[in-house]
Amino acid sequence: MKFVSHTDYDADVLITGAGPAGAACAWHLVKAGYNVILIDYQDFPRDKVCGDFVGPIGIKELNTIGFTSNTEFHKTNVIKEAAVFLDGKPLIKKNIPHITDLPDHGRVVPRMLLDNWIVEEAVKAGVRLITPCRLNNFEVFNNGVVSFCKMGGKNISFTTKFLAGADGSSSTTARIVNGSKPDARDIIVAVRAYYENINCISGQAELYFTSKSFPGYYWLFPTGPTSANIGVGMVLDNFPDGEIDLPELLKDLVASDETLKRKIGGGELKGKVLAWPLSTYNPDAKIISERVILTGDAAGLINSLNGEGIQYALLSARWASECLVNCFKENDYSLCALKKYEEKIKTEVGYDMSLSNMVIQFIRNRNLNPLWLNLLAILTEKASKDEEFATVAGGILAGLVPAKEAVSLSFIGKSVAQGVETTLNSTLNSIKKGPVEIAAFGIKAAGFTLGQVSALVQQRTEYWKWAKGLAGNGFQLSAYILKDVKQRLKN
Ligand SMILES: Cc1cc2nc3c(=O)[nH]c(=O)nc-3n(C[C@H](O)[C@H](O)[C@H](O)COP(=O)(O)OP(=O)(O)OC[C@H]3O[C@@H](n4cnc5c(N)ncnc54)[C@H](O)[C@@H]3O)c2cc1C
Repeated sequence: MKFVSHTDYDADVLITGAGPAGAACAWHLVKAGYNVILIDYQDFPRDKVCGDFVGPIGIKELNTIGFTSNTEFHKTNVIKEAAVFLDGKPLIKKNIPHITDLPDHGRVVPRMLLDNWIVEEAVKAGVRLITPCRLNNFEVFNNGVVSFCKMGGKNISFTTKFLAGADGSSSTTARIVNGSKPDARDIIVAVRAYYENINCISGQAELYFTSKSFPGYYWLFPTGPTSANIGVGMVLDNFPDGEIDLPELLKDLVASDETLKRKIGGGELKGKVLAWPLSTYNPDAKIISERVILTGDAAGLINSLNGEGIQYALLSARWASECLVNCFKENDYSLCALKKYEEKIKTEVGYDMSLSNMVIQFIRNRNLNPLWLNLLAILTEKASKDEEFATVAGGILAGLVPAKEAVSLSFIGKSVAQGVETTLNSTLNSIKKGPVEIAAFGIKAAGFTLGQVSALVQQRTEYWKWAKGLAGNGFQLSAYILKDVKQRLKN
């Protein structure tokens, strides 16, 4: 391998992408005493298509960076409650679970503001921000990495000891590290729009599931008492196929869902409906290579179940900076030293992400939508009656409670018991209503079963791919479950 001359270093670390992951990583490294260049192909402030919801873990990370005591940050909308609607009907409304050491609320912070505040703090701390500057390629040497960029039509290169890729869902750094783009299976597509002059509940984040759009879901995250960020997201690779036009789906929901129609009323769309991909966690994708480390969306750190990525961007930024600081201190620049970061990601978020991936793999099969929506109704019914269950279920959905809680005997037991109770109740109701209702119930059940058998025959390849995916996800998840069980037995 070739060497770069030691006098050639432009900085200790070059970070590509000044979103939450890149700017936070830069801030942590500079605070620890290292030279950092942060580049982005966009000038700041810049917008980023997002639901803008920052949960309690994200807020806690932002508190460390410091600007959250500013008046402008305090003007952003506080979220204390979450509500779930199924086909226009309210299913459940609960406070955001309060977890020790975490704020009891989230916030909806427009990314135009949030990302710029983090960048400003990084620059204040001493980070060299260079924009607009795009990373195109890099070459790894024995003692450093040279990054080739384009700035104002000119080629420019930076020589650093490490390169940190924080360049988002369509990351150039991750593509080079992995030798390919992320698999379509790991991509969620989502659109978002801002609405003004509406009648929303300012402290309540809302999720909408409808049979028409499942496995996608809609969100309404208020940016204030009369305005909101509204969007819809869906896994790209689901079946059976069918052109899904997300902007149209969003407009359709706004026009047809009774609850949402009431809220939006005479409100108007501000700006355009914009789409963006989310690349979710793939445990087989590389997040480190010689002299290179990936953070945030570039590392696929988005929870496929709820689309949350800001908190993981901020957490991974801190963990990556801690790992790099350790490399500098130990004078160890090897891939082996970077493996500590990979291990940290697996330990801290791997279980949660694997469980989310498993759920998503199940619901990719849209033939089974009635089953999934019934399951959702069962879980929310249980949550409406059982505070402890609600804290675990809501906490997992909000990324606050470790996923392993859902794999506990008590949680599974309660879910199964609720399933049995709901099924028995609806069967008894049919029986009480007499033979016509019993026949209708039987026809519906037979129709569903026949539909599944015929779908299985007609879509053999898709079913096989789906089952293989389930087995793969199950294998990954079982490794975490086994580790957890061993730990519990040891304790
Ligand atoms: C529609 C939608 C809704 C979402 N809603 C939420 C939500 O409500 N809450 C939540 O927590 N998460 C949400 N997410 C996910 C969240 O947006 C991301 O997880 C988060 O932005 C990740 O931050 P990041 O810094 O890793 O990447 P980004 O914020 O994407 O920043 C990457 C930066 O890299 C720059 N860049 C890209 N390529 C290059 C290059 N080659 N050279 C230089 N610079 C480059 C880009 O200009 C960009 O500024 C949503 C995502 C979408 C698409």
